[in-house]
Amino acid sequence: MSQCSFKVETYPLTQNSIGVGSNLKLFRLSWGLPGPRVFLPASVHGAEVQGNLVLYHLMKWAKENSFRGELCLAPFANPTGTTTKIGTQTYGRFNTVTGHNWNRNYHDLAKYLGAEKIQAFALKHKASSLEEIKQNFQLVLNEALDQIEKEEKNYGLKENGRLNWWLQKLSVESDIVLDLHTGPVACRYLYAPEALKESAKYLRIPYTLIVPHEFGGALDEAVFVPWTKLQEAFTKLGVNHPLLVESYTVEFGSEETISTTEAQIDLDRLLSYFHFKKIIDQAPRNEALKVAQYYGALKDYKTYYAPRGGLYEYKIKPGDRYLKGDVLASCLNFEGLNSLEKLSEQQTNLTAQQAGALINHCPSSVVGSGMELLQVMENLSMFD
Ligand SMILES: [Zn+2]
Repeated sequence: MSQCSFKVETYPLTQNSIGVGSNLKLFRLSWGLPGPRVFLPASVHGAEVQGNLVLYHLMKWAKENSFRGELCLAPFANPTGTTTKIGTQTYGRFNTVTGHNWNRNYHDLAKYLGAEKIQAFALKHKASSLEEIKQNFQLVLNEALDQIEKEEKNYGLKENGRLNWWLQKLSVESDIVLDLHTGPVACRYLYAPEALKESAKYLRIPYTLIVPHEFGGALDEAVFVPWTKLQEAFTKLGVNHPLLVESYTVEFGSEETISTTEAQIDLDRLLSYFHFKKIIDQAPRNEALKVAQYYGALKDYKTYYAPRGGLYEYKIKPGDRYLKGDVLASCLNFEGLNSLEKLSEQQTNLTAQQAGALINHCPSSVVGSGMELLQVMENLSMFD
């Protein structure tokens, strides 16, 4: 077994109003064997912490095993997001100063470069090997990010700017990006681009949302969109190339909580995928990975907004499937109560519009009307 080299790198992020700085810390593990560079940030949404424990177990695994290529691990990838508390709650999803979602401020490098430049690149590399195309296009993307930084630096970087820029920079230099998140109260689920539907299956996650090749601001899209545009440019020239990088958003359960039992299974999900990618030799043998796996289009990922304010009781668990008309939640308030005869009217049921699977529910039972209550997948198909 080859020896693992372990390096710690730090990238400066923000400085608070009394001058104290925060850094992005990266652990770089390499065995000196040729293979892809895999980047795994965890907790970009600060309250979504299970991925940190999974990275800890991945490092324990790395102590005893070897990996082809390089593992770049960024636990606590958003120090501000994870340490901003309101009472006991971690306010991790939005920047408290700007209100911005921490996972929506990446740069659309395909747009920045423009379709003409991407088409010209494809023409220039029409006869190049996949490896040459990959290396050269990674250089183009890297230069674009450097240029963006130069242009923005003159007038100062925005609040989220430094963190998003570093994470995108580390992603652009990688071949595979697995951005580790969680839902509010959620089952395991995954966002995968259309082009990677078959690879996605090997993460052995019960529910996969198939994402169109469009930029919506998230890291997974920031990574794959320029490459899907390049793929399209080659297709126009009559050359069919596979997608040369892979990126996913992996949702490891619920926010604000960690579980070692679940982390062992989550680690094996990653190892199953690494084995499929021929990065490791041994496939994990874990019965918990043998789950029924469903997928569905992102457009069929639906949110139920609370129809009335009140105390909600969730009647099914994330991961459960249900039929049209099933009760998903009940809601209680005392508005309008003036006689005991009317008591039964105070509690109402929310029923399913269509059959589907519950993916997320609101972490609180205390809900005002119009709040995001449930997120569900409809029109599910099953992986073979
Ligand atoms: Zn998230």
